[in-house]
Amino acid sequence: MSHTTNTSAPPVLLLVDAPTVAEPARAPGFRAADPHAPQVQVTDLGVSRGDGVFETIGVVAGRPLQLEPHLTRLTHSAAVLDLPAPRADVWRAAVLAAIGAAGGGDLSVKTVLTRGVEGTDRCTGWVLATAAPDMTRARQHGLRVVTLDRGYSSDVAVTSPWLLQGAKYTSYAVNMAALREARSRGADDVIFTSTDGYVLEGPTASVVLRAAETLITPATDQGILAGTTQSEVFTFAASRGMRTEARPVPVAELEHAEQVWLCSSVRLCAPVRSLDGRELTVDRELTEALLAHLAGRGE
Ligand code: PLP
Repeated sequence: MSHTTNTSAPPVLLLVDAPTVAEPARAPGFRAADPHAPQVQVTDLGVSRGDGVFETIGVVAGRPLQLEPHLTRLTHSAAVLDLPAPRADVWRAAVLAAIGAAGGGDLSVKTVLTRGVEGTDRCTGWVLATAAPDMTRARQHGLRVVTLDRGYSSDVAVTSPWLLQGAKYTSYAVNMAALREARSRGADDVIFTSTDGYVLEGPTASVVLRAAETLITPATDQGILAGTTQSEVFTFAASRGMRTEARPVPVAELEHAEQVWLCSSVRLCAPVRSLDGRELTVDRELTEALLAHLAGRGE
């Protein structure tokens, strides 16, 4: 499946003046700003401490994918970080306005909400729409993936809630370091595993496995993000009469999986073509059908 990529589309930035219920409502709650000019203060806790939450929303042919689940997850992440509740109506309108101002096409729209400038009680928010990166190669040829130990047990969300597992917070330095480690090993991406031997997620993606006619994903109570794309993958599977299971997945199951995908909002899904050096089969027909469904071009 080919996607159009509006590589020429300039970025669109909207600053959200009323990002949460703690800031006074002021219609429409956001305004356009220059994406190439400085906009965030150096004392913003999002910058100095990575203290904030975000979403990245995929847009195909001008249509945002899973907009409501993304807004719901933004609200959930904010609650986990004890941030004031985001104004979903303002964020929704800002995302749609950014897509309109960008001229539609295939985009990546990032919504960021931080704890704001130190010493103020005001959060900072913005929406940035950019041309979607070209994911054709990953989708068609697949990814070389290595497993990396995430360094905590699969019950981390229960034992250590202060680690904020399950929230999409802006401190992604560890996730980016894991991707660099993968590259240094000659791979493209990562699947994290827990110290007690379970499959978790990728640094920027959910993991889905196929065993015969069943699609399986690690259960989200293991301190991993509830993926909006993975949820759509299961809707697709159900529409094809396949079974779906969200449960703890022992690493051994990954080692024997017939097919593995990494799924996320802009990439949609990319098959894993090798795992720790072992070649995996790529079911192109199923991957194409899945991509068509995720892009909203399916049946
Ligand atoms: N897990 C992590 C750690 C992520 O960063 C992401 C997306 O960036 C996902 C899973 C997939 O989530 P979604 O499909 O909602 O993009």
